[in-house]
Amino acid sequence: MKYKNNEKSLRAYIFFILLVVFFVNYDMTYNHNLLYRKSFISLATEKSDKKHSVVIDPGHGGIDKGTNYENLYEKDINLKIALYMKEYFEEKGFQVYMTREEDVLLSLKEIGDFVNDKKPDVFVSVHVNSFKDPGYDGISAFYHSPDGFQNEERIELAETIQKEVSKDGIWFDRGIKEQDIAVLRYSKYVCSLVEVGFMTNKDDRVKLQDENILKNTGENIANGIIKYIMLNN
Ligand SMILES: [Zn+2]
Repeated sequence: MKYKNNEKSLRAYIFFILLVVFFVNYDMTYNHNLLYRKSFISLATEKSDKKHSVVIDPGHGGIDKGTNYENLYEKDINLKIALYMKEYFEEKGFQVYMTREEDVLLSLKEIGDFVNDKKPDVFVSVHVNSFKDPGYDGISAFYHSPDGFQNEERIELAETIQKEVSKDGIWFDRGIKEQDIAVLRYSKYVCSLVEVGFMTNKDDRVKLQDENILKNTGENIANGIIKYIMLNN
């Protein structure tokens, strides 16, 4: 009798354990599926709703002409390249914010505030270089990471841009450079400044007056940025 009772309670106990295991397992699977489905749906909507965005800053403007050679002004070349970039980015479905589309001057603080307000994937400033030695030529993507802020990301962006703008051999590849540039200091977002050629170099000056080259260079800078964004999203 005692034995039977023990057997009965053992059976009941095993049955109970099996029941618990079944329900816990069912619940976990169900919740996991639900969670998976939820995250999948939100990811899909986020992807379709959120456009990637860039802020383009054509350096200088207005009374600030930048570097110049006779009546060839850096501010005008920067704007031309930036507008080619804008067109290209928009064709690819990107949201583009320009710090200027006309011949006006913005303060560095205004540019910084504009960038941080737009919260872009990438901020890029476009410039033309100059140097006392007219032998200096070529293109270079600059980065700056104040106190190491976004150091890896900013280096990666500069490298990706540099690779794209140098690949067709139009410009001499000067490599990427670290420099404490004010316009990059204010940005909370990953950023780079591209110096397209040297106004002080004879061959570069010819290129800087060639619309096809400016368009091509703008598209290459844009492609570098697009590659960076795609690799990091
Ligand atoms: Zn400049």
